[in-house]
Amino acid sequence: MNDTDKHKQKSQKLKENVDAGIAKAQIERGVFLVITGNGKGKSTAGFGTVTRAVGHGQKAAVAQFIKGTWECGERNLLEEHGVPFSVMNTGFTWDTQDRESDITAATIVWNDIKKYLSDPDYQVVLLDELTYMLSFDYLDKQEVLDAITNRPENQTVIVTGRGAITELRDLADTVSVIKDEKHAYTAGIKARQGIDW
Ligand code: ATP
Ligand code: MG
Repeated sequence: MNDTDKHKQKSQKLKENVDAGIAKAQIERGVFLVITGNGKGKSTAGFGTVTRAVGHGQKAAVAQFIKGTWECGERNLLEEHGVPFSVMNTGFTWDTQDRESDITAATIVWNDIKKYLSDPDYQVVLLDELTYMLSFDYLDKQEVLDAITNRPENQTVIVTGRGAITELRDLADTVSVIKDEKHAYTAGIKARQGIDW
């Protein structure tokens, strides 16, 4: 067998495997995605998915925990396309150093986003940086897990942030852990508009 035939045989086998995998995936429902790890790209992946859904005319909602006072390019764009945002009205928690006010701010965002988690018109709900709210005990863990579990069947929920707790990973259909191999910041390069926010 020459190289061309070998390649043909190999790709045919690969295609059969891919087709078999596609045929096996028959369940149609929204999924729960967790994007965690220390590498860059968690929030951008979450917002990328929201953009993808909105591009298909679907409805999406976004909650941003932690970084309320930062400008956010995705928010500027997506709000213009009818995506509601709930944003914490305090800055980084390490700026405020005030646990009680952080809890209050997180609870306001949670109470606001909850209505979308029970609304079947919303196909995607992004809970950006939610992981910290659970690891810091700012929000009631069981209430959050229950709301995600009991969401409408066609709704996809995305949670981003470092250090996702085991319960979130266990509940998720898809878990991606983004690894930090290197980051420009550690070489002294400043965070950039359009790239980092
Ligand atoms: P992004 O919003 O760029 O997708 P992220 O959501 O994965 O990043 P976060 O932990 O939310 O990462 O970080 C918030 C900010 O810190 C962003 O400006 C991001 O670019 C930057 N950042 C992310 N990973 C690292 C890292 N390993 N070292 C330094 N800065 C980082
Ligand atoms: Mg992020």
